[in-house]
Amino acid sequence: MSLTSFLASKCFEYLLKEETSTVQQKTMPLYPPWSVAGKDFRALCDGCGNCAAACGNRIIVIGKDSFPAVDFTQGSCTFCGDCARSCPTGALQFEAEKAPWHLRVRIAETCLLRSQMLCLTCVEQCETGAIRLPQIEGQLPQITAEHCNGCGYCCRPCPVGAISLVTINDGE
Ligand code: SF4
Ligand code: SF4
Ligand code: SF4
Repeated sequence: MSLTSFLASKCFEYLLKEETSTVQQKTMPLYPPWSVAGKDFRALCDGCGNCAAACGNRIIVIGKDSFPAVDFTQGSCTFCGDCARSCPTGALQFEAEKAPWHLRVRIAETCLLRSQMLCLTCVEQCETGAIRLPQIEGQLPQITAEHCNGCGYCCRPCPVGAISLVTINDGE
């Protein structure tokens, strides 16, 4: 390998590492809907577990760190608000008029469409039309973020578990 190629490959490795690290820093845990912003949640939540017990869909689990988190592999959110109303500390604050969260759908490269296999599962599951088949064969499904309400209904049915939802740190 020439010196130029060696330096170019090292530069690429560095940039890739930086990008990955930025994404990791911005990815926040998926706290229950209507959770207060940023670090305030961890300051207010005492890990009582009321929210997990209140969720009829059983998608809230108490993690090893004693904080609740949403697990969309268990089901989806109906936005009933029972979890938030059960919170005694104000870590979750239900407001019917307020968006429960701001999540983004991510689809991994393991998506069957990437292997030229036809799969319509997520497209058919999404009631808001936020997921569409790609225009070009072999590409990932297209997400229209403005139409996604973060219900998670598309996650569990995916036959290869390629769909996840993440909340992005908005700088808090
Ligand atoms: S809003 Fe309802 S369905 Fe969604 S996590 Fe809370 S209790 Fe569960
Ligand atoms: S009900 Fe509130 S204080 Fe209790 S675990 Fe859930 S978020 Fe934390
Ligand atoms: S989370 Fe809900 S609204 Fe968003 S893409 Fe999946 S099914 Fe559609």
